[in-house]
Amino acid sequence: MSSSSETVQERLAAIRGAIAAAAREAGRAPEDVVLTAVSKTFEADHIRPALEAGQRVFGENRVQEAMKKWPALREAFAGVELRLIGPLQSNKAVEAVETFDVIESLDRPKLARALAAALEKTGRTPRLLVQVNTGEEEQKAGVLPEAADAFIASCRDDYGLSVEGLMCIPPADQPPAPHFGLLRLIAERNGLHTLSMGMSADFETAVRLGATHVRVGSAIFGSRDAH
Ligand SMILES: *Cc1c(COP(=O)(O)O)cnc(C)c1O
Repeated sequence: MSSSSETVQERLAAIRGAIAAAAREAGRAPEDVVLTAVSKTFEADHIRPALEAGQRVFGENRVQEAMKKWPALREAFAGVELRLIGPLQSNKAVEAVETFDVIESLDRPKLARALAAALEKTGRTPRLLVQVNTGEEEQKAGVLPEAADAFIASCRDDYGLSVEGLMCIPPADQPPAPHFGLLRLIAERNGLHTLSMGMSADFETAVRLGATHVRVGSAIFGSRDAH
């Protein structure tokens, strides 16, 4: 699917087809799954063909990088939705809410407080997902699974933040399905509907397990080491 001779447009079409097939297999409507094209590390020139092919939802993992690349691209292409999928430092909360339409990495009280203040200050209302560290990995961002319910409630009750859903990044060395299942379970018991899960290697599994958003980078844009 991601052979390097294919164009970005061909890869996007193939991934859309695979998402639709996985959705139908699971008795879901293909249009209930949004493809987030993860464009981190790629220059605007590399991203433009995806925009020209009609892709509008993009993921970036650094605030600074997105602030540099996206204003001009947004100017050129209407209807872009930009999603922050990387860890966010609380001192960048204002820049983040000014740059992104969705922030997927809300994971601690200090950040909840900073985001609440940033919304107040800017009048912006980005949608928010709570990141869950389903693999309980030391080095990984995200609230621990057993702390998720309390944190989601605290975002709402203590900080006035409306949480739309959950995001996870399973451990690289484990089968992802149990992690996707756990994320879905936590979402269901908290009445949340948005599930951002699945990347290039496992997005079809994620769709079968209920993903509403899959985050696909290298399968669209190519290897990040090669540029
Ligand atoms: C980089 C990244 C992706 C995309 O990974 P690929 O394997 O290139 O598809 C998805 N989600 C997050 C959080 C990322 O940082």
